Amino acid sequence: MQEKVDFRSDTVTRPTAGMLDAMMHAKIGDDVFGEDETVNELESKLAAIFQMEAGLFCPSGTMTNQIAIKCFTQPMDEVICDQTSHVYRYEGGGIAYNSLASVRLLYGERGILTPQLIAPEINEENIHYPNTSLVVLENTVNKGGGACYTLDQINPIAELCSTEGLKLHLDGARIFNALIATGDAASDYGQYFDGISVCLSKGLGAPVGSVFLSDQATIKRARKLRKVFGGGMRQAGFLAAAGIYALDNHVDRLAIDHQHAKALADTLSACNYIESVMPVETNIVIVKVTASRNATELVRTLADKGILCNTTGPDTIRFVTHLDVSSTMIDQAIAVFREL
Ligand SMILES: *Cc1c(COP(=O)(O)O)cnc(C)c1O
Repeated sequence: MQEKVDFRSDTVTRPTAGMLDAMMHAKIGDDVFGEDETVNELESKLAAIFQMEAGLFCPSGTMTNQIAIKCFTQPMDEVICDQTSHVYRYEGGGIAYNSLASVRLLYGERGILTPQLIAPEINEENIHYPNTSLVVLENTVNKGGGACYTLDQINPIAELCSTEGLKLHLDGARIFNALIATGDAASDYGQYFDGISVCLSKGLGAPVGSVFLSDQATIKRARKLRKVFGGGMRQAGFLAAAGIYALDNHVDRLAIDHQHAKALADTLSACNYIESVMPVETNIVIVKVTASRNATELVRTLADKGILCNTTGPDTIRFVTHLDVSSTMIDQAIAVFREL
């Protein structure tokens, strides 16, 4: 019996032996007291990588995003984001619940926004209108099939936000995938964003954790908000050590995941039960099945053959490559796709 190949998400990765070893040997302390050396090291390491002033280690990317939105808005404000956005679709209505803000949804190409899309949606001062205060970008765009922004695309958006007095937050759950795909430097990101949220538990392979990056004053406020949200952890250095190990060992290899995704896409686009495949830029492949096939049924058939994936709509299926998918497993999946 062959091993199952799990393409459901890049969150399913398990810590490697090297990562577990790093975790076991972490120097720890009480992080709510600010005394966990390893957490402090992770926060300053990531802040330095992105040239931001400071970082805050949180249990999830939802928490880093929600804290960011709370830091960058006041009640009754409005947040601009794409309709595919994780902050809008997959964080349980948190923008409304946590920040008492409304949302203006834009329709970018595969979730990618432009200054031309954003500018007309910024409210002018008027007693009737909510105050637009924040733009959120996602890089890569999960629901856009892993589409990336380049810094050349981000630059004019940042300029617009600065001119209009808006904050700009990056949901960088898969920012390292974007950096590998575009060749942009992480160190150039800090100047464009007021906040960046980075996930360690996606393609980087850590079991838990995300980091919110911003300036000192915002991180001070974010630290208080994390406590209020119930995210103040104690000997979190065991988890932070996994994050540091991931940053040191699992960034460059994301290129392999991207090659794997392209190989899957090439095969799938030649299968008669697939109508189309979204362009693959990173580690996500989204396919549309032909009208005669049912996506849910196809997912079930694939599962019976040891290939795990999820639907993302009535006729779409998503495959995500990651650290725990080997080249052999890609070959195994390709063989299954061809014989279906
Ligand atoms: C996974 C993800 C997050 C954070 O999710 P958590 O499960 O809360 O860590 C945020 N944004 C995007 C785009 C994601 O894919």
